[in-house]
Amino acid sequence: MDIKEKDNTHISILVVGAGPAGLASAIAARSANKDAEIVVLEKGESVGNHNLSGAVLETASLIRLLDEARPDWKTIKGADSVLGRVVKEDDVHFLLGKELAVNISFLMKICKKLGLSFGEICNDGNTIVSTSRLTRLLGEIALSLGIEIYTGFGVKEILYDQDNRKAHGVKLVEQGLDKEGDPQPNYIEGEAITADIIILAEGTDGLVTEDFAVKAGLSRKNDQVFSVGVKEIIRVSKQQYALFGDNRVVHTMGYPLWLPIFGPAIFGGGFAYSCGENKIAVGIISGADWKYYNFNPQKALRDFKQHTLIKEFIDGGEIIEAGVKMIPEGGYYAVPRYLQPGTDGKKMNTVGYKNVMIVGDSAGFVNMNKIKGLHNAIESGALAGNAAIKCLKDPEKAADEYTGRLESNFVMDEMKSARNLRAIVARFGQAIGFPLSLFGNLFPRFAMEADYKAMTSRKFTFDTPGEFDKATFVALAGTEHREEQPSHLSISDPDLCINKCDPLFHRACITFCPAGVYEKIGIETRPANPSNCVHCKTCQRKCPFDNIRWTVPEGNGGPRYKQM
Ligand SMILES: Cc1cc2nc3c(=O)[nH]c(=O)nc-3n(C[C@H](O)[C@H](O)[C@H](O)COP(=O)(O)OP(=O)(O)OC[C@H]3O[C@@H](n4cnc5c(N)ncnc54)[C@H](O)[C@@H]3O)c2cc1C
Ligand code: SF4
Ligand code: SF4
Repeated sequence: MDIKEKDNTHISILVVGAGPAGLASAIAARSANKDAEIVVLEKGESVGNHNLSGAVLETASLIRLLDEARPDWKTIKGADSVLGRVVKEDDVHFLLGKELAVNISFLMKICKKLGLSFGEICNDGNTIVSTSRLTRLLGEIALSLGIEIYTGFGVKEILYDQDNRKAHGVKLVEQGLDKEGDPQPNYIEGEAITADIIILAEGTDGLVTEDFAVKAGLSRKNDQVFSVGVKEIIRVSKQQYALFGDNRVVHTMGYPLWLPIFGPAIFGGGFAYSCGENKIAVGIISGADWKYYNFNPQKALRDFKQHTLIKEFIDGGEIIEAGVKMIPEGGYYAVPRYLQPGTDGKKMNTVGYKNVMIVGDSAGFVNMNKIKGLHNAIESGALAGNAAIKCLKDPEKAADEYTGRLESNFVMDEMKSARNLRAIVARFGQAIGFPLSLFGNLFPRFAMEADYKAMTSRKFTFDTPGEFDKATFVALAGTEHREEQPSHLSISDPDLCINKCDPLFHRACITFCPAGVYEKIGIETRPANPSNCVHCKTCQRKCPFDNIRWTVPEGNGGPRYKQM
């Protein structure tokens, strides 16, 4: 259904983003109130298209949410296959060079027994999921509960009344402009949708969230930092799959991102998970504070796949889907907050402001000890949904109510306990930083700088030669945009590219953009192929001169992930 067919465009509870966090908030709100009008807006063509994770899920929050909302949810067609793959084998390896792998799972298990943070990487009782499929299941359940979901509607900005210091709605991205920005016969103005309560669930580096943070005056103690996750799903032979195992997760650290002393020094690691039906998901997560001007995370994945630990399971397999997404890694100190008096008279740092709440990756709720964010996205979404219902008659109390619930919930406990890991490793390097991070909570806050500031003119010389085939990658992400629309990417100062970036960083965006969007044309750098964009937003965070602006394109564009 088109949102313009609605009788009115004033809504009680408006959720921006139909990911796990947004849908959890809508479902929880519905459980708490059968009649409230709840609307979810999603920029992707259909629910699940823009959702990508590893993923190993801690299921408790999800099951609690669904048991309450739809006690019969397990009987929904496909639900068992979405949530049926419980982890049985769980290895962590340290990759020392291209061939050597040391299994350090026992160390992680000892850490778990001792209650040390490294043990949190263990996955006993967790479930391997495809986040796009999980999100589709949540979407189906939400629809069955009478929640309205409008796909293909990108939200452009928050409507904020500075006089009354209050958000009163959102504005949608306009549709039907040509490349020059002139309206075509099918032009539709970006509609204003007003709402009593707004839940921002845009995922990582949300544009509307950042717009709201600026307008309402939210701040972070540390800059948000990110990593870039590149993932492929590979169909392998029956024999290879049997050898790998049907319920297995493998995590790695070391090669190809980091090796002691003379090797590369990038935060992150690799993963390989069973997906059923002879499919294995492989991926690599690279800290976006990499220093090398010519580093491309896709090439790191290519090298990871060639490591002897992984190669035997996937060699000769067919890549059936691929994608990229950023993970917000700044943790507790990078959560956007507003300092205001709470209901009980004490000062409160609300995650949102008045009638606006920020949930999931938009708030940065990724636990870096576990390298997981899905459970926190679902839990924070559910908390916001419940807070919204409690505050329906007094919407300006919503952020206060939500934050109160968050502070006494495991989400904030996790965020606090993992608060220094990423910063300590960034500060001291991996050899010293990782062991030191075991005592991370004894340290005060370490400041973290935005990722783009980390770029240097050092060359990454550790990858194997040869270009990465970005065109095939884009096709495997299924990404498309209507060609005849204004570019959603812009370079603020083209001269910087020519005069500063070229000599120092060799126009890094051309290398790191996974979709080959940027090209050198004449002497300029241009976002020449915006329709290839997979919405990872890496360019906005990693251009060394902070010179790129990503805006939300016309709805329905972007990747079409099916199994990510
Ligand atoms: C490679 C990788 C591996 C990961 N592995 C794991 C793992 O193993 N376990 C784990 O727990 N977590 C993992 N994570 C993290 C996890 O994926 C996230 O924490 C989780 O997906 C966050 O959910 P979300 O709903 O907040 O955001 P998202 O899933 O990103 O959903 C946000 C939604 O909002 C939509 N949207 C955004 N902006 C707008 C707008 N302006 N207008 C309309 N719609 C909009 C998007 O299209 C999207 O559908 C991984 C992440 C990556 C990238
Ligand atoms: S957009 Fe940024 S990364 Fe790309 S060439 Fe210009 S300054 Fe360099
Ligand atoms: S243009 Fe930017 S957001 Fe789009 S795929 Fe490239 S790096 Fe990602």
